[in-house]
Amino acid sequence: MTDNKTPKQRSYNMSRIRSENTKPEEKVRKYLFAKGFRYRKNVRTMPGCPDIVMSKYKTVIFVNGCFWHKHDCPRFVWPSSNVEYWHHKIMRNVERDKKNFELLINEGWKIYVVWECQLKRKYFTETMTRLEKAIRLRGVLD
Ligand SMILES: [Zn+2]
Repeated sequence: MTDNKTPKQRSYNMSRIRSENTKPEEKVRKYLFAKGFRYRKNVRTMPGCPDIVMSKYKTVIFVNGCFWHKHDCPRFVWPSSNVEYWHHKIMRNVERDKKNFELLINEGWKIYVVWECQLKRKYFTETMTRLEKAIRLRGVLD
């Protein structure tokens, strides 16, 4: 099989494939699994389809992209074109998150949001240590 991509294009494709394999939610899951936590993934029957659900701790975790969920951090920048389209789209996500969180809280779930920017190599351990501590501190319900 031949392809007519330049080496540069090819390595771009490869790097994209690599980054897809270590999606932020996978990083979080891997860490928690190694620490002995067990969970369900992408539970569609729950509000917002949480990335991680730990029934034992009555805890759900969302791993959110800073752009799509409008994190108050340097990674979130309003696009400079199609301003109205993006504003509508992003604000709809923010509203949806809010509604889902309310539903989950009403059902007695504890919610943690881990932001993509908090998973950068230099913050990862700190973020995950804090998350782990918080989950354990709030105790097991069963
Ligand atoms: Zn962020």
